[in-house]
Amino acid sequence: MKQQICILGSTGSIGTQALEVIRNHADLYEVYALTANNRWQELAMQARQFHPAAVVIANEAHYDALADVLADQPEIKVYAGTKALEEIVEAEPINVVLAAMVGFAGLVPTIRAIKAHKKVCLANKETLVVAGQLIMQLVEQYHATLLPVDSEHSAIFQSLTGEGTNEIEKILLTCSGGPFRLYTHNQLQAVRAVDALYHPTWTMGPKITIDSATLMNKGFEVIEARWLFDVPSEKIQVLIHPQSIVHSAVQFCDGGIKAQLGVPDMRLPIQYAFSFPERLTLNTPRVNLFHQPLEFFEPDTERFKCLTLAYDAIGKGGNMPCILNAANEVANEAFRNAQCSFLAIADIIERTMQSVTFDASPDLDVYLQTDAEARRMTAESL
Ligand code: NAD
Ligand code: MG
Repeated sequence: MKQQICILGSTGSIGTQALEVIRNHADLYEVYALTANNRWQELAMQARQFHPAAVVIANEAHYDALADVLADQPEIKVYAGTKALEEIVEAEPINVVLAAMVGFAGLVPTIRAIKAHKKVCLANKETLVVAGQLIMQLVEQYHATLLPVDSEHSAIFQSLTGEGTNEIEKILLTCSGGPFRLYTHNQLQAVRAVDALYHPTWTMGPKITIDSATLMNKGFEVIEARWLFDVPSEKIQVLIHPQSIVHSAVQFCDGGIKAQLGVPDMRLPIQYAFSFPERLTLNTPRVNLFHQPLEFFEPDTERFKCLTLAYDAIGKGGNMPCILNAANEVANEAFRNAQCSFLAIADIIERTMQSVTFDASPDLDVYLQTDAEARRMTAESL
């Protein structure tokens, strides 16, 4: 029986690479549902190639256009709206949900997938940043399987495989350093979105590319690791590793370190989440360690304040990481639209973290309210 896969965010960077994985292993995987936010033409093209049972376009304004262009494919059901997107993950034949939407919008569909006992392959890190405690509680309560797709977390997960309850002393979370790793404060003052949208080692969607340049992405990954592996943030150390070959590592109580290495290519972590515990072939270039220096540096948290803000947020707990995420989503977009400078991003987020109502033990409703309040306050402060 082929695994039936639902991809939330199939037109994105992760989504399209996941489709490549599925195409390369068509004997094992089949697409059951594809979803996108706005790019209905691309979604229709994917539907013609992969023949899913359903497609969902989140933005209802594109429903007619999408339904029209797929009218000659009556076996593909077409839906629109966020409700439909949240419902589709529950469809009975689906075995695997790949959560590859970007931002807070991924939270509710991911929760619905967990509650429907689907195997969830999680790329959407914002879900764990916002509501990590709730998500991990639900995973336990519903005996769900949650597998990391983020490359660092996949590397940590791969390093932990076979280790049972052996004690983790420390997680070594690697970080390319982004395009501005060697920039001075003055140089950082002048950078524009086009400069930040070029990443030295990874090709990704626009939001995460900016987050990688500010190092907020790494801060998010500290929070993500804290919840996925139940390790306090004090035991998660960020290492700048410009080559992006060591994708992260775990240091155990006997001092032994296990790491996962490979070329920077998201198809491996995506495929591993699909196939775990098995490994499938993947035709990527191989790392040649003879030609590959491996360097590690400490991050500079003065130039890259977002990393400190993320540690502060997880240290404070409650809804603070949710506030951090919402403020970042607004500031990140403002920077992409040339409405604020690169260095202002961290200042804007810090102000929002100081202003939004703190809640030490939030539930889903509190997260939804906090997200809305933090977005409004951040937008007003621009
Ligand atoms: P992207 O911008 O390329 O794609 C986002 C996808 O989500 C698109 O298909 C889009 O249509 C959909 N989407 C966006 N907003 C939506 C909404 N409100 N409702 C419904 N659908 C919506 O992003 P990406 O780079 O593929 O990243 C996706 C997620 O994976 C992010 O959370 C990111 O942090 C994470 N991630 C990405 C990479 C990477 O290499 N790209 C690596 C690790 C983690
Ligand atoms: Mg990552």
